[in-house]
Amino acid sequence: MAPPARVDDSAPPYGTLVFDCDSTLASIEGIDELAGERKQEIAALTERAMAGEVPLEAVFRRRLLLLEPTRDQVAALGRQYVAHALPHARELVRALQALGKRVCILSGGLRQAVFALSDALGIDSGDVFAVDIFHGRDGSYAGFDEDSPLARSGGKLELLRQLAREDRRGGLALVGDGATDLEAAPAARRFVAFGGVARRKEVFARAVVTCDTPDLAALLPLLVATDEIDTLARDPSHHLLLRAARVAR
Ligand SMILES: [Mg+2]
Repeated sequence: MAPPARVDDSAPPYGTLVFDCDSTLASIEGIDELAGERKQEIAALTERAMAGEVPLEAVFRRRLLLLEPTRDQVAALGRQYVAHALPHARELVRALQALGKRVCILSGGLRQAVFALSDALGIDSGDVFAVDIFHGRDGSYAGFDEDSPLARSGGKLELLRQLAREDRRGGLALVGDGATDLEAAPAARRFVAFGGVARRKEVFARAVVTCDTPDLAALLPLLVATDEIDTLARDPSHHLLLRAARVAR
């Protein structure tokens, strides 16, 4: 059998940087964290979807029906995301924004929980794309947005194409660990397979650009051009990130 085709790649600069959330910006798989004693069972479902063995929609609904997360549980998950943000997440986002770039989160996670992380990282809530979850007045689970493209395979590609159309400054780069990120890669000028938390074989096999370091500073040279690094170096407030980027490589 022929090896799977690699995705296309072109060098920075990019106008828009898009990050996956679970196992990329944060070291957890959010829905698995909601599972309590059922974590193993739920994590096995998540793993199969992220490895591309089953379509996302086959597990998305099932996981939420099994868990029925309350409003309080989703808020607690938001705090978990913040506590498990990878090193230099905030600094990387700040540097990209200082260079005038749009920074987005594109996630199959629960929007209300991902908001806590985007808030902590300084990413505009309007640039967070995730799946809405609903609760009754008493905070009990009342379903999720079943029409969200992010709850099914191929949905990230649709949304990423839209973000690429909105970009006027050099196209878009995507960073993610999962099969759903790899699926979206054709809409990006660069896809970075991120294995700092979970290294997925199929995703790494097809990616041209990969990163195995569990420190987001390592992404900086993959996402910006050399002259942009020089621009950052002129501002001392980015020196910590630049130093970490050199060490992390
Ligand atoms: Mg992920």
